[in-house]
Amino acid sequence: MIEYKDALALVVSAARTLPAEMVPLARALGRTLARDIKAREDIPPFTKATMDGFAVRAADTGQAPTAARDASGAHSPVELRIIEDLPAGRLARRALGPGQAARIMTGAPLPPGADAVVMVEDTERSGLGVLLRRPVRPGDNIGLAGEDLKKGETALERGAVLGPAEIGMLAAAGLARVPAVRRPTVAVIATGDEIVEPGKKKGRGQIRNSNGPALTAMAARAGADARYLGIARDRNASLAVKLARGRGADVLVLSGGVSVGDHDLVKEELRSGGVRPVFWKVRIKPGKPVFFGRRGRQLVFGLPGNPTSAMVTFQLFVEPAIDRMLGRAEPGRATTSAVLAGEIVVKPGRTQFLRGLIVDRGPVLRVAPYDDQRSGVLRSMVRSRVLIVVPADVARLDAGREVEVIFMDGR
Ligand code: AMP
Ligand code: MG
Repeated sequence: MIEYKDALALVVSAARTLPAEMVPLARALGRTLARDIKAREDIPPFTKATMDGFAVRAADTGQAPTAARDASGAHSPVELRIIEDLPAGRLARRALGPGQAARIMTGAPLPPGADAVVMVEDTERSGLGVLLRRPVRPGDNIGLAGEDLKKGETALERGAVLGPAEIGMLAAAGLARVPAVRRPTVAVIATGDEIVEPGKKKGRGQIRNSNGPALTAMAARAGADARYLGIARDRNASLAVKLARGRGADVLVLSGGVSVGDHDLVKEELRSGGVRPVFWKVRIKPGKPVFFGRRGRQLVFGLPGNPTSAMVTFQLFVEPAIDRMLGRAEPGRATTSAVLAGEIVVKPGRTQFLRGLIVDRGPVLRVAPYDDQRSGVLRSMVRSRVLIVVPADVARLDAGREVEVIFMDGR
């Protein structure tokens, strides 16, 4: 039996970042960038108005008012001649000379010669001209070419997870398709003679297959291309058929049949299917009998059948592997510190991951263990939001103690 940290390190070091593929921007949400992206031109590409008003030469508008002059309104208005109308998208036909202004809308390129914009609220029309009630300084109410990103500057770094802001940035840089790390295919197999798919007729002594759907959903949530392969019965032939079907996947996840029962054939069948074991049994609770092995480049996880054990071990071991394959900088979920709102008493010896409730979100995160920690109780997974980490050598933690927690929610 190995320690949690050692087992995790073995999983992470076995996983490799997958190659890149080009993905249309519209389907890039949640994907990982495979290469650095540099701006191919200045963003924005030209200096523009950031307010509706009048493009001017700041020197024509008088001196910038001091606070006192501004407050007393002692500045006398300046009149400029309007030579052009510049809506967004239109280029000025001529440069601004002394004493001239151009009517300009937000987003329009500043005409040559202009160095500021006077907000329309600070002006009055006067015949062919405009009366400025307030002077401006060079740079007022304009956005400079390249102020967001200069041509050649790195817009986004390899390994960035593409959220809405990143996708907006890529669009601003003119990319219609982005180099993203290929998503790993994760094939999920449920095993057991007693489990029946939801929607199918259930006999006496049988239960619903909850792990198949739950683990497939976890794989999809982690960013993988999740494929559910159905149920293998607790017989070598049935397992062999499913294992053969899962051959092409980057990751194979099985639930059930990895313990020491008479019908726990998964390890044996994986071995005859060419899977080389890396570890079996980790000093954790829940999830002790978890198995990890490799078949060529494929990573194979045998998770315990108990629904919470299956989900917790998926989060602890399969998610970091998927993260690594996706090229994410930090595989697995970060731990956060929290204050315990109730006491914890456990039998020491294994690192425990207690399902926990959030009692108070802040300013100090306060958590309490869910009152039923039995590993078959799926309701505890529905109610809980965190896993409270209890180190292997700890038997008791009083309320008020600081603990490490791992969030279980979507990422
Ligand atoms: P096992 O790891 O195969 O010994 O299964 C442990 C427990 O989890 C048993 O009570 C099984 O009935 C249950 N179990 C196994 N597979 C599933 C599944 N796919 N969905 C729900 N419960 C399961
Ligand atoms: Mg079983």
